[in-house]
Amino acid sequence: MKDIKELYYDELLAGLESMGEKRFRAGQIYTWMHKKLASSFDEMSDISKALRDKLKAAYTYTVLKEARKQVSGIDGTVKYLFELPDKNRIETVSMDYHHGHSVCISSQVGCRMGCRFCASTLGGLVRNLTAAEMLEQIYSVSRDRGKRVDNVVVMGIGEPMDNYDEVVRFIRMLTSEKGLDLSVRSITVSTCGIVPGIYRLSEEGLGITLALSLHAVSDEKRKKIMPVANSYSLSELMDAVDTYFKKTGRRVSFEYSLIKGVNDSEEDAVGLAALAGKRGCHVNLIPVNPVTEAGLKEPVREAVLAFQKKLKDMNVNATIRRELGRDIDGACGQLRRADSSLG
Ligand code: SAH
Repeated sequence: MKDIKELYYDELLAGLESMGEKRFRAGQIYTWMHKKLASSFDEMSDISKALRDKLKAAYTYTVLKEARKQVSGIDGTVKYLFELPDKNRIETVSMDYHHGHSVCISSQVGCRMGCRFCASTLGGLVRNLTAAEMLEQIYSVSRDRGKRVDNVVVMGIGEPMDNYDEVVRFIRMLTSEKGLDLSVRSITVSTCGIVPGIYRLSEEGLGITLALSLHAVSDEKRKKIMPVANSYSLSELMDAVDTYFKKTGRRVSFEYSLIKGVNDSEEDAVGLAALAGKRGCHVNLIPVNPVTEAGLKEPVREAVLAFQKKLKDMNVNATIRRELGRDIDGACGQLRRADSSLG
């Protein structure tokens, strides 16, 4: 059975008409799901019991169970471990920034990209998330925190380009005026660099922000920490980045996780400045969050600041990602990993 929450408005309308229902019901039901954030059919008080029963027989209505919730004592970041109807677990993070309430969502259960520093990939890919399950992460956080979500980043567990169709459906629904009506400007999708996906996304007519997880500036070094680099070279990747900018007018931003003794040298800074500088790309530096299994360490604070200064001296705009929620297993996949049910 299909989840009713992942239908576009027109699809819901067609479904209701085929049940012999009036057109205006589609608007009512869509509003209950995507504006009032109802958590069940039974909350839809202006829909008759008979129609609710018909809907229950035709569609599922996915809700997420809060398996665990951690609140950072340092900065109020909230990290949720949600349980899906099939008992798989995913992470969602809610953060308050000066520019509003940001939610970081997962796009898959696990990941098959194999980046060496990332905890999400340790158990491999279990399955893709549906658009409904991605939307529901945002709706659940909004209900729990009692406030609107302003920004969405697809930077949690999973590789969004490996679940392309559902991610694009999710973004279209999130930015629809019949839904939460977020602006495309407030949505960021982060990829490890699946080149065909970047080209496809540049043709969607969505002006969302694309973040590229770069992490190394030579093919040789990138291959050592990111298996995806065996499939796509840096020069192919930069061509895709340039096309994305040309087609959407949106500059890609670079994510760069600093790993001690691996990608934090002077030469790395010079190489990074060369790639980012001429494209006017913003660089986000993230001191790597150590994952025990990988044996990788973050550079000392002074080295991180010195790396940032080198980039600035070469006229590259670089920020050090605020390390929100470090006290609550802040990095990708670490909460799911720590959860005993995973063994
Ligand atoms: N698969 C996507 C999105 C998920 S990862 C991607 O690769 O972009 C989100 C970001 O966190 C990526 O930049 C990823 O490389 C980074 N990341 C993963 N594990 C990390 C760790 N242990 N420390 C710092 N950054 C990490």
